[in-house]
Amino acid sequence: MPLFSLYLHVPFCVSKCGYCAFYSEAQGGASSSIEAWLDALSREASRIDAIWEGRPRLRTLYIGGGTPTVLSLFEWKRLLRILNDGFDFSEIEEVTVEANPCSLTDGHLSLWSDSFVTRVSLGVQSLRDDELSWLGRRHDARAAARALEKTCSRGFDVSADLIFGLPFQTLRTWRDSLRRVLDSGVGHVSVYQLTLEPGTPLGDAEPLLPDGYLFYRFAQWYLPRKKLEQYEIASFSRPGKECRHNLAYWRQEPVLALGPSAWGYFPENGFRYRNAPTLEGYIPLTETQPPVTEAEQIGEQGLSRGIEAAILALRTKWGIDTASFAARFGEELTEKVLRVLRKIPPRLVRFFEGGVCLTPSGMRIGNAIWVELLELADERDVKLSCD
Ligand code: SF4
Repeated sequence: MPLFSLYLHVPFCVSKCGYCAFYSEAQGGASSSIEAWLDALSREASRIDAIWEGRPRLRTLYIGGGTPTVLSLFEWKRLLRILNDGFDFSEIEEVTVEANPCSLTDGHLSLWSDSFVTRVSLGVQSLRDDELSWLGRRHDARAAARALEKTCSRGFDVSADLIFGLPFQTLRTWRDSLRRVLDSGVGHVSVYQLTLEPGTPLGDAEPLLPDGYLFYRFAQWYLPRKKLEQYEIASFSRPGKECRHNLAYWRQEPVLALGPSAWGYFPENGFRYRNAPTLEGYIPLTETQPPVTEAEQIGEQGLSRGIEAAILALRTKWGIDTASFAARFGEELTEKVLRVLRKIPPRLVRFFEGGVCLTPSGMRIGNAIWVELLELADERDVKLSCD
């Protein structure tokens, strides 16, 4: 049995933010649904154990959502018991919990300190009240700053998510959020451009958004000056504070899914699957079978898997290791990928002994480079998902 990463989806939020397209039920954490979800998680974990004939050994665990801090301490204790019963933590390297400043309590932090949680990812988004209110966040800048301070002071590895590209955001307000987040002592920052998703209040309102390029470029300049290295397109960290769980996705390591709308992946056969996307579908399915409702097999050692692996590797500072890529996908595909990359201007791509990666400028236009690589794919092969 391989060492797995496990993604667990908590499908509850106090309310929905105006831009959010992730699956979650905005119900303020009605405890009856949470109880039914915990029952279903327990059944799903037992099914996973039965499939693998034992408790899968975990390398990383990521508890995301939704809003995991919507759960009460009582519900958290039960969740931790389900995880302890269902999985083997003897080789665990990292356990991350996502937290929202509006619902994170001292009780959560104490409970996590006493358990296997090592890392907290805080959804800060901005440290400006006007920006937070426009996004429809439930917390203000003060609450976010307080959450950062108390989480860092407990000794967790702390990451903060920040959003750029808001209508009235300026480089000065962006720098202000970045600076204050760093001052709190976080070791990791993820920066995301606001995207308008259809079906969300902000997406449907179609506000005019500024070009995010300057904001992203500023983060690429500012964060390394403060000793946070960019190790992935959206991720910056102090040395040794990279998110190990996310590295599992970019390196195509095996990932198990737990909870509604969670995705899993098995690299040996390119099998990717998704659990039922809503609680309504997920809970009854767990009574009779694994709650998987979507699956795809990415071409065996084929073009699609190779191109997806190349794109995922190029998202990171390590890029493609040509020898191991060739061992996995063959010399022919390796040569095709390298040929595409050689045609790209050298200020965007850096060839080094044994590999190739994107430069910071290349990371700014990653999507255009993915398009070039995707053109190599065989149209008849399976759908690619490389976002
Ligand atoms: S708290 Fe997070 S998951 Fe919940 S609605 Fe807001 S952005 Fe989405």
